[in-house]
Amino acid sequence: MRTITLSNGKMVEVECLSCALTSGVIEPEGGVVIETEYFHAHQDVAYPIKGLIILASKRHIKCFDELTEEERMDYINILSKIRKAQRKVLGIEHVYYFYNEDTTHHFHTWMVPRYEWMYKFGRSVESVRPVLLHARNKLNNEENIKEVKEAIRALGEELNK
Ligand SMILES: [Zn+2]
Repeated sequence: MRTITLSNGKMVEVECLSCALTSGVIEPEGGVVIETEYFHAHQDVAYPIKGLIILASKRHIKCFDELTEEERMDYINILSKIRKAQRKVLGIEHVYYFYNEDTTHHFHTWMVPRYEWMYKFGRSVESVRPVLLHARNKLNNEENIKEVKEAIRALGEELNK
């Protein structure tokens, strides 16, 4: 078991954070953006970036080659659908995709929208961590959180209509 501190300061004990989120044991702040048969999309508001999405598999697996045929189809379809909604609803021009197989949780893809302010941290992969840390440490204010939550709501509405 691991103790995880949620963005609201509450502490919970879970085996796997992704399992806890996809099974509904933990409700992500801002709610679920969309769910399919095999995947679950939410925003991690600990990193308050408008339109950032975490797409996690419902099954506890770590590696891409563990996905079944059905999960692979579901994955690529929902990933494209979310991407399309990010463009349509939030005007997001570019997205960085990231996932690591040696995660302490399970299979989840980060979809990190690219905004102008991020370029001061460089381009491409080396800028991802500093961007996330900047968001967590500097953008964690009421006004930005409000915008982020409004974006989650708008994305959810578009994706579930
Ligand atoms: Zn898991």
